[in-house]
Amino acid sequence: MSVFKYERDNDGIVTVTMDMTGPVNAMNAEYHEAMSETIAKLEAEQGLTGVVFASAKKVFFAGGDLNDLVKADPDQAEAFFNATEEMKAGLRRIEKLPVPVVAAINGAALGGGYELCLACNHRIAFDHKSVQIGLPECSLGLYPGGGGVVRLTKLIGVEKALPYILESKRLVPAKALKVGMIDQVVDSIDALVPAAKEYILSVKDDELAAVQVWDRKGYRIPGGAINTPRNVQTATMGPAMLSQKTRGLMPQMTAAMDVAFQASMLDIDTALRIEGREFAKVATGPVAKNMISTFFFQLNKINGGASRPQNVGKNLTRKVGILGAGMMGQGIAYVSAMAGIEVVLKDISQDAADKGKAYSEKLLQKRISRGQMDEAKAKGILDLILATDKNEDLQGCDLIIEAVFENIGLKHGITKEIEPYLSEDGFWGSNTSTLPITQLAEASAKPENFIGIHFFSPVDKMPLVEIICGEQTSDEALAKAFDYTMQIRKTPIVVNDSLGFFTSRTFGTYLDEAAHLLTEGTNPVRIDSLGKAIGMPVGPLQIQDETSLELSRKAQETWAEMGVTDKWGNGDVIRRVIKDMITDNGRGGRYHGGGYYEYHEDGSKNFWPPLYDLYYNADYQISDQDIKDRLMFRQVIETLKCLETGVLRSVADANIGSIFGIGAPAHTGGFIQFVNTYGFEAFIARCDELAAKFGDRFNCPDIVKEQAKTGELFS
Ligand code: NAD
Repeated sequence: MSVFKYERDNDGIVTVTMDMTGPVNAMNAEYHEAMSETIAKLEAEQGLTGVVFASAKKVFFAGGDLNDLVKADPDQAEAFFNATEEMKAGLRRIEKLPVPVVAAINGAALGGGYELCLACNHRIAFDHKSVQIGLPECSLGLYPGGGGVVRLTKLIGVEKALPYILESKRLVPAKALKVGMIDQVVDSIDALVPAAKEYILSVKDDELAAVQVWDRKGYRIPGGAINTPRNVQTATMGPAMLSQKTRGLMPQMTAAMDVAFQASMLDIDTALRIEGREFAKVATGPVAKNMISTFFFQLNKINGGASRPQNVGKNLTRKVGILGAGMMGQGIAYVSAMAGIEVVLKDISQDAADKGKAYSEKLLQKRISRGQMDEAKAKGILDLILATDKNEDLQGCDLIIEAVFENIGLKHGITKEIEPYLSEDGFWGSNTSTLPITQLAEASAKPENFIGIHFFSPVDKMPLVEIICGEQTSDEALAKAFDYTMQIRKTPIVVNDSLGFFTSRTFGTYLDEAAHLLTEGTNPVRIDSLGKAIGMPVGPLQIQDETSLELSRKAQETWAEMGVTDKWGNGDVIRRVIKDMITDNGRGGRYHGGGYYEYHEDGSKNFWPPLYDLYYNADYQISDQDIKDRLMFRQVIETLKCLETGVLRSVADANIGSIFGIGAPAHTGGFIQFVNTYGFEAFIARCDELAAKFGDRFNCPDIVKEQAKTGELFS
């Protein structure tokens, strides 16, 4: 029996219910067999009135099988192209059936799932938030190459289609209906197939109902073809804007835009073939492999709890205390309340605590004004936050997170004073960004319940939390911190204690290398431009200004007091720069009135002119490639060292942590995946070159040589 159930009713309508082996319907070998059998049967039917595609699974159709896609190499591009063409020919045969074909969308129809819907004449969806519709391929280094780019472009026009293709947006049915991506919604799953049949019967006498719009004579796509005068702006500005946004590092997006442009001008069959040709190149290329490995497989592994101790039961945090209502504390309060957790937000004065709570009010108001939330819901969330200056209010918290100033004495004092207010089996989290957790835990009566819960700024936007285990942190505390992070809908990575943990330490090398380049005499403009050119969101000098040079100075002072060694390079260079900038010139960073840059009231900025007198040397020669590699390799090498010494516990944590926490270029799949794609031998050779030219900090960690011997990639 086929995994596609085939039923013909008395009206001559065939319902094909997809029920493949495994949890979802996906485009794999089983699909090809079932689909070609079904199509042949449909084509041979006599007296057919219409066809309904339905699903017996929770998800309507899951799309391409990423297990296959991640293995596709460039030398298989031709075979890949042929297989895709075959699959697409099947979809084309469906849309050429002489009767209306309807997609009855009961659950998510994303990627290949929505491409199947696009090959139907009419799309009806169950109007529920669990039903997501869209083309998320670009976020995985692919693009909708199964007809998605071509058909969506032809259906709703280039300008409207491109954001849905390039930005991987997932839409609920009501929104998809508004955009024109589906045609109808129904209120219940049970109403889907009857509604589809009703539609088929209602258009029985309309011959065009069985003909796709792009197959109709004289069809003009909405907004017109890209080579018409009204589209001059899109044709000229579109690629430039895309290139500015992706810095040319996302080949899948460049190709998708190109295919959409061509689809607007060409007939469907030619356009589909061009789409397939580019797709074979993109899908077998390195960016697709990097992004599928990291954003699908590794992210799923992390969110599935791979780094959470399995021997501990699930924990629900009901009441969280937050100490310090400053920049971080107020953000942590907001995300916790948004997850329905009761929050006690404590600062040294009622006024400071109220200010922290007002931050949540501001964010909630924004949501209301955008129509994302109603007043009552917002009030309910705000009411969960108690702003206070009294320790007693913290009584019975399941978790207390400390987010006070970065000072070990203060943090020790607070731990001693407030820990007794925790509930019996409560646990303590420190949001320190640099201080070793083991040393902070020395002030605790129960160091086994003490853990680092490191958020990133701005807390409401940044998706990552770095959980740091001190030497004495127990499995229970780790499991609880992990569960809390998932509860507030963030992605947790778990690392072992080290100065600067994983993220701050690795990020520090980006800033440190920029200081080296600067003091060697490199033009600062090149440093920041080339930092962005490798795909970092912001140049290193600018980001150092934003996070503040002052903060780096304070951190270094604290480490000196604590007697901990500086592991970020030799540290002398950045210390010298910080001294020059702050001590001699009062340039503490943007918040402190300016740093490497000076900032103007109209929002513009330029490098602080005396910076050139301090360091710039017009005779200094260094290639762009060397600058780019130095900025990238320093961070990659530091990540490898973290993996080698056990600070990082997994490759998945390294890749996801580097992208979500540090801003590692997404197209690389993260700092460890970068080495896989660069090739071990080539990476070792380039490290050797950089080390010979610029210093020992570029020495390749042994872990790469060890891994190379195994013949396996880091995974
Ligand atoms: P902040 O200066 O904005 O806020 C600190 C708050 O703590 C202030 O409101 C202060 O009044 C309050 N405070 C001081 N002593 C207190 C006490 N005894 N009891 C209660 N509250 C007290 O600082 P921030 O940027 O929010 O940083 C807080 C912590 O988070 C630091 O450890 C920092 O390293 C860490 N962190 C900061 C960032 C960042 O980007 N700023 C990122 C991650 C982690």
